[in-house]
Amino acid sequence: MTTRRQFLIGAAASVATLSSGSHAFSQGNGRRPLVISTWSHGLASNQKAWDILEQGGRALDAVEQGVQVAEADPEVSSVGYGGRPDREGHVTLDSCIMDEKGNAGSVAFLQNFKHPIAVARKVMEETPHVMIVGQGARQFALSQGFREEDLLTEESRKEWQHWLKTAEYSPWKPANDPNHDTISMLAVDQAGDLSGSCTTSGLAYKMHGRVGDSPIIGAALFVDNDVGAACATGVGEEVMKTVGSFLIVELMRQGMSAKEACREGVLRIVKKNPDWKNTQVGYLALGRNGDVGAYAIHPGFQYAVHDGQQNLLLDADNYLEE
Ligand code: ASP
Repeated sequence: MTTRRQFLIGAAASVATLSSGSHAFSQGNGRRPLVISTWSHGLASNQKAWDILEQGGRALDAVEQGVQVAEADPEVSSVGYGGRPDREGHVTLDSCIMDEKGNAGSVAFLQNFKHPIAVARKVMEETPHVMIVGQGARQFALSQGFREEDLLTEESRKEWQHWLKTAEYSPWKPANDPNHDTISMLAVDQAGDLSGSCTTSGLAYKMHGRVGDSPIIGAALFVDNDVGAACATGVGEEVMKTVGSFLIVELMRQGMSAKEACREGVLRIVKKNPDWKNTQVGYLALGRNGDVGAYAIHPGFQYAVHDGQQNLLLDADNYLEE
């Protein structure tokens, strides 16, 4: 049986193990509000989101402000400030957000703004469009009062300069390559409404101009308030080609649990991609009934779940070890 590591944060931090069958957030437990997000930096982001949900705030505000914690953290080397640059040394950001009404906003190839998720929300709320990219996104962000700043830290500059010595590029290597740690977050609020967000600096040392799945509605993120929400992390090209998050929500609509739907999303990639052993993708889903599920191609994908009592970091099950 697969085991999951469980970390509690807070004063009484401890470590416990749960079997997959006794998962505290399994199908239909009806907990709400609830917030879930990808990777260990999801813990701090969940906490921020929880503070909003606890006070009766909207899931939309929770997922926007929650991921801003990761965006602002220079230690998180795949999101916002301190994110690894492309191969030319530019930190380029992709981000999207979706609310309970099916409204969506997105920015791609945005540079020099610490909070692309906030710009994506402005696209959703202040424009007739869903997605604005590059220079247009920059102009729009400036017009909305966002301030430009250099997002390359001393640390990420040094790492990039070190990488330039070999300039060997691979989107992902099985040996625990931390190349992809996008934060995607899903939440259900006290009113039972769902929202989701996703924000990243994308794959480290990608080609200049490359845009991944993270700003693509339906790929890295999809929310349908009648059914649930799903989000992604990992090699975005694979997520885009299978429209992963939309697929997962549609499978949940047809009756699959969140985890079954995430697993099927992974299987679609594995079946089509002969090189799947060199590809990592992780999916995370939340049913409107509070059902939480996650699944990845390889071991190593972790996700954080906050239900008000605990803020847990869990290991997703994976195809390789099935
Ligand atoms: N999905 C992101 C991308 O392809 C990478 C990540 O998850 O960190 O840009």
